[in-house]
Amino acid sequence: MTAEQHAATRRHAGRRALVTGGATGIGRSTVGRLGAEGAAVVVNYIGDPAPAEEAVSELDEAGGKAIAVQADVSNEEQVVSMFSRAREELGGPIDLLVNNAGIEKPFLLVDMPLEEWNKVIGVNLTGAFLCAREAARGMIDAGVPGAIVNISSVHEQIAWEQFGHYCASKGGMKLWAGTIAKELAPHKIRVVNVAPGAILTPINRDLIEHPEKRAEVEEEIPWGRMGKPEEIAATVAWLAGPEAEYVTGTTIFVDGGMTQYPHFH
Ligand code: NAD
Repeated sequence: MTAEQHAATRRHAGRRALVTGGATGIGRSTVGRLGAEGAAVVVNYIGDPAPAEEAVSELDEAGGKAIAVQADVSNEEQVVSMFSRAREELGGPIDLLVNNAGIEKPFLLVDMPLEEWNKVIGVNLTGAFLCAREAARGMIDAGVPGAIVNISSVHEQIAWEQFGHYCASKGGMKLWAGTIAKELAPHKIRVVNVAPGAILTPINRDLIEHPEKRAEVEEEIPWGRMGKPEEIAATVAWLAGPEAEYVTGTTIFVDGGMTQYPHFH
């Protein structure tokens, strides 16, 4: 192993990370990667605690430190208490937040119930705001630098029928992230969005279970395949680390070229 590779493997040593929706998919891979690189990690989850506890045990066994904390990211009170518990148990403020929790459910505009619209905006956008606010307050109060990485989507750019609420949440995340990146730069807190293309995770259960639908999606990807959660986690780990110090207020697309619209000639 070269000196650079060795440094990269421990690049988050001493940091305190929180990954929302950290029990499954991209979040789970990110928890594993940040933990393996030395961060103490809060695995935020909602619902069944088993997958989050499994992620914690895996890190414990590998010599890392992690705790699982249940909180609905769209609920202000639960978010505030999650951050204070994280601070108590990890001995300081979170300095690496990954806003990953996200949901989607298809409805045409004319059929979209307000409740479904509010749910998606509540988790994907308001949840990211609430967590970023608590994380930023903690870092600013303690005078520590840090990073906020939002998992947005190619749908911060590509319109998607039946997913108006999802596109509004991810498109909103784009300008919101740019805005807070400006506000937080003087505090040495960076804000970056990672926009995945089609990734093999539980959110895409339908594609995983139906090879013909998956083939249709893969037709839209110049690289010819869906992405893996580890590929997103690796990007997050680099972006949150010291080599990416000059990257803020922007979006990194990790999509096999999907945003180049392969069928547009
Ligand atoms: P996933 O369904 O495995 O992950 C979403 C996680 O969010 C789950 O663990 C879920 O329990 C959690 N969650 C849902 N509501 C929550 C709430 N109220 N509070 C806390 N946690 C909550 O799917 P994934 O693909 O890993 O999704 C992760 C992120 O990546 C999402 O923001 C999604 O929009 C984004 N994304 C995924 C893809 C893809 O193709 N998989 C593409 C682009 C963007």
